[in-house]
Amino acid sequence: MSKFKVVEVRPSGGKNIAEVFWEDGHVSRFHTIWLRCNCRCSVCCRTIVGQALVERSKLSCQLLVSEATIHDEGAKINFKLAPETNHVTVMTSDWLRSACYCDACISEMLDEREMKFHLPSESQLPVAEFEQLDTDKGMFELIGTVFDRGFVVVENVPREDGSVVKTGKRMAPLIGGVCGEKFDVVDVQSTEHAAYTSSGLPFHADQCIYEAPEGILLLHALRFDDVVEGGNSLLVDMFHVIDILRKQSPDDFRVLSRVPIAYATIDYNRRDPAHVIHRKPIILLDYDDKVVGYSWNPGTEQTLRVHEDDVEPFYRAYVKLQKLIDDPKNQFKFRLRSGDMLVLHNRRMAHSRDAYKTNGGHRRLQGTYVNIEDLRSKYVVLGRKLNRPVVAPKIGNCSSI
Ligand SMILES: [Zn+2]
Ligand SMILES: [Zn+2]
Repeated sequence: MSKFKVVEVRPSGGKNIAEVFWEDGHVSRFHTIWLRCNCRCSVCCRTIVGQALVERSKLSCQLLVSEATIHDEGAKINFKLAPETNHVTVMTSDWLRSACYCDACISEMLDEREMKFHLPSESQLPVAEFEQLDTDKGMFELIGTVFDRGFVVVENVPREDGSVVKTGKRMAPLIGGVCGEKFDVVDVQSTEHAAYTSSGLPFHADQCIYEAPEGILLLHALRFDDVVEGGNSLLVDMFHVIDILRKQSPDDFRVLSRVPIAYATIDYNRRDPAHVIHRKPIILLDYDDKVVGYSWNPGTEQTLRVHEDDVEPFYRAYVKLQKLIDDPKNQFKFRLRSGDMLVLHNRRMAHSRDAYKTNGGHRRLQGTYVNIEDLRSKYVVLGRKLNRPVVAPKIGNCSSI
């Protein structure tokens, strides 16, 4: 039984469009070239990944509907598209409806994947138990929280060196990069990186130096003694503050989505010399004008080199966004305890930490990165397995779906 039934098909335009009328009142318009390229017949329809069975270069650019017939009580439509004489383009109604590209259906597709924002003052700290990772249900709910809230604090993670790597691998494949498989965030009075000192850090996303910064950051507090003063974790939902900027200062929002700045780690003197650089706007928009990514890392930002007219607007807009990030109203603030592991959505949340004083105690965090697209895949697959189907959420990876 098909869910959607077609009641009528009418050629429209110069017959290069088929207007499809549905039983529930919806009306779709499909172009003939689109119908032909997506034909569901047994010759054209892909049956295994990697196939491309319709040879587009051999199709006429001027396909016209010469006949459209409805079959199986509205569950199937056959199109004859002139000048083709030896092929019938076949559509099943459920598939056709699921692929409708009218404005309403496109909006629905984007809206159901959109991020929901949570105000720090109105929401509790999202927490999970380490044992949750042992079951599909626990893992599914934990990942769901990471995508919904942007982070979760997992409690009682075994305080062993490398625990963060073992835990990360249970979630999704790890990503290396300039930091290696794991890194210790501890005060070694580093002269290479401020993270490895006891000073405060500005809000930032990790690894903006790459085209695709790591998606999920795991930070495990191997030791965080009570006597240590400061060292609190602070998070800001960048998609939320960018949304505020868009509403309050649309011109500044446009500037930051257009004018690029580079991020880099270029250091030939460090133990492991590196030269990694990437230039992009702070706000990334897609075809539908949706925000689909951001970069924010004052600590690896490079000198602005853009066209003269863009210099002052860039700094003006930058400061406005900076003020929203610095506004405590927009900040989640908490202190990790020994054994806590922060699972942070790095493509959504900027993070920072207070300066700290050890007072004779210790603060040692160990971190690693996990692939966010594989984690989302796991989330959707687990949802199906548990009979709790979910739509793959937007994850800030430069794509709205
Ligand atoms: Zn076909
Ligand atoms: Zn539609």
